[in-house]
Amino acid sequence: MKLLEGKNAIVTGGSRGIGRGIAKVFAAHGANVAFTYNSSEEAAKELENELSESGIKAKGYKSNAADFEQAQELIKHVAEDFGAIDILVNNAGITKDNLLMRMSEEDFDRVIEVNLKSIFNMTKAVQRTMLKQRKGSIINMSSVVGVKGNAGQANYAASKAGIIGFSKSMALELGSRNIRTNVIAPGFIETEMTEKLDEKVVQGWRDNIPLKRGGTPEDIANACVFLGSDLSAYVTGQVLNVDGGMLT
Ligand code: NAP
Repeated sequence: MKLLEGKNAIVTGGSRGIGRGIAKVFAAHGANVAFTYNSSEEAAKELENELSESGIKAKGYKSNAADFEQAQELIKHVAEDFGAIDILVNNAGITKDNLLMRMSEEDFDRVIEVNLKSIFNMTKAVQRTMLKQRKGSIINMSSVVGVKGNAGQANYAASKAGIIGFSKSMALELGSRNIRTNVIAPGFIETEMTEKLDEKVVQGWRDNIPLKRGGTPEDIANACVFLGSDLSAYVTGQVLNVDGGMLT
């Protein structure tokens, strides 16, 4: 069953990893997909072609989510190209890990700008369109680290915890207009990024997860399908942990 037939979605950071998985699964569920990337021009073109083959409308946009003006421009272009915007997935994110002692001010600010301010930028930009439509689903990508904290990731954890506070506030502000805002907190998801890690270390992580495996981009994408679709019409302000039971 196609759960997103006829809906238009924007996914930030769609060129790789989880965002790419979301774009593909959304397209398979019949959604038209606009996605952004920061620098992976070639990967974005490839994805655009791959998505278009399934018969839906797809387009990649180079747009820095951390930049307020660029977010405004992006939404303007997507609205022109696609018309309505039903789903916004704020997925773009980066890490710049270090113990506090060695963390530079620049690395703190950059992670907050890309991971947290981007969500302010994009929500602000999409707000008017969704208010006019009197419907919309906003899905923000946090992390188990935002719920629990993590040594060596104070900047990242702060950005991901900030996302939760922001999203709950949006659920309260925008609920009366039928705009829902929810958060997904992924656990350890195996992407190109984690392929570079030492296999022994990664196996240790898998062994500690109740479901005994790392997650896939599709695991996260399927949760996004639920939150983006009308199946979750009465769900807002929630944090959904998709982590194989890691935080249990
Ligand atoms: P990834 O493989 O590194 O991909 C990141 C994506 O974000 C890329 O498409 C990248 O575009 C884009 N991006 C980076 N900076 C951007 C910017 N300033 N503006 C627009 N796009 C930007 O990361 P991932 O593992 O898929 O993670 C996706 C999200 O899930 C992130 O928010 C991350 O914090 C969260 N998460 C991941 C895990 C995990 O285990 N992987 C766990 C919990 C939460 P380019 O290709 O152009 O650089």
